[in-house]
Amino acid sequence: MASLKRIRIVDLLKRTDFGAEVIVKGWVRTRRGSKTVSFIALNDGSTIKNVQIVADNDNFDEELMKNITTGACISVKGKIVESIGADQAIEIQAQEIELLGACPSDYPMQKKGQSFEYMRSFAHMRLRTNTFGAVFRIRHNMAFAIHKFFHDKGFVYFHTPLITASDCEGAGQMFQVTTMDLNNLPKNEEGKVDFDQDFFGKPASLTVSGQLEGELGATALGAIYTFGPTFRAENSNTPRHLAEFWMIEPEMAFYDIDDNMDLAEEFIKYCVKWALDNCKDDLEFLNKMIDKELIARLESVVNTDFVRLEYTEGVKILEEAVKNGHKFEYPVFWGADLQSEHERFLVEEHFKRPVILTGYPKEIKAFYMKQNPDGKTVRAMDVLFPKIGEIIGGSEREENYDKLLARIKELNIPMKDMWWYLDTRKFGSCPHSGFGLGFERLLLFVTGMQNIRDVIAFPRTPRTAEF
Ligand code: ATP
Ligand code: MN
Repeated sequence: MASLKRIRIVDLLKRTDFGAEVIVKGWVRTRRGSKTVSFIALNDGSTIKNVQIVADNDNFDEELMKNITTGACISVKGKIVESIGADQAIEIQAQEIELLGACPSDYPMQKKGQSFEYMRSFAHMRLRTNTFGAVFRIRHNMAFAIHKFFHDKGFVYFHTPLITASDCEGAGQMFQVTTMDLNNLPKNEEGKVDFDQDFFGKPASLTVSGQLEGELGATALGAIYTFGPTFRAENSNTPRHLAEFWMIEPEMAFYDIDDNMDLAEEFIKYCVKWALDNCKDDLEFLNKMIDKELIARLESVVNTDFVRLEYTEGVKILEEAVKNGHKFEYPVFWGADLQSEHERFLVEEHFKRPVILTGYPKEIKAFYMKQNPDGKTVRAMDVLFPKIGEIIGGSEREENYDKLLARIKELNIPMKDMWWYLDTRKFGSCPHSGFGLGFERLLLFVTGMQNIRDVIAFPRTPRTAEF
């Protein structure tokens, strides 16, 4: 007989060839039973589902059986048999069990119903739980769907640098990168830190966005997207902000703001539909355990047109709500940067579907956004989602050299950092647009998880960089 290869549980559960011998390996989720027989729920991470192992205690070493506890890692050889239990079609009648790794009782993921906050302090072990298994299988699927979506449209996956020497994006506080000895900093004649002696010969930081370089790609290759880590040292301890997060930034030559909105809407719907089509078991689990309206919400996003609304109109609706007695923590007025409570009011209470807000006051948006003829607003677009608020931020870009330069001067952005960016407008400038989707914000929406720290394996937030 050819030697038996291990089968993954996801593949095993599709089989009905009763009597066949298989080997499965995984971690014990639960063990119950009587003096004579043990029922072991085994999971190997390939699916949310466990396979039930049935072992007659008499056939196995007592010492071995003592070690088959929650969290232990075992290898089981046995026969596929029909299950009489309601929960599963098949189970494994164990013939041989090998203990690969015992799991002492101080295993931090032992108990059921532990809080996510507790589990965060054991982020290295929480991956072994059902919820985090589901979240990270979905995370993988979303990453795959994103690449497939853009690849099928002919976009080029473009890698922009993570270390940058320009501090002009304005998207957030930056983390400095240096090789200098902080306890013994070289000083120049003026007594300031002499960055000439630093690795790059000038100050450098981790990037807050790949957009500016993305524009260089788009105005050569036609359409590109980035998909990589982004760093913001904003000290915002919210359930929607990380210091290190992943962002997808498509950038397209010859797209105007309407094309940009069409793409953003099609893109998110594609990702959500992908999850519905390909992550059914995990979504059903999360729907049951985390959020009873999850699947309904995902389906509704796939099947409804997003509202498209001018910022000015949005502010009117919010002011009207305030007049009618609705209380917001932050004030609403024309010119205000909308807070997530405002965004969620528009989406969840007023329109009851996703909203794309455009035509923002230029003061609250980045310098590179295309100015409208009114001189007050820019062609920005934020896609606002139920439960999340802003999930995408984007715009049509200012392609006019003089207007862009004027805005850069107005905002005192150092020109020495910007010459290469301005060259795109100087040499063969073209209309173009793009946006940024926060990957973890998308995952919050798709998984129904409440805290962004629970959709990235090892979250980085103020004062947290363990694991
Ligand atoms: P917010 O107002 O929510 O802080 P932002 O206006 O700073 O967002 P952009 O600079 O437009 O966001 O970034 C594009 C996208 O990146 C956002 O729409 C959001 O999905 C995501 N994003 C921004 N900041 C963070 C963060 N700190 N952690 C996780 N995702 C983020
Ligand atoms: Mn921000």
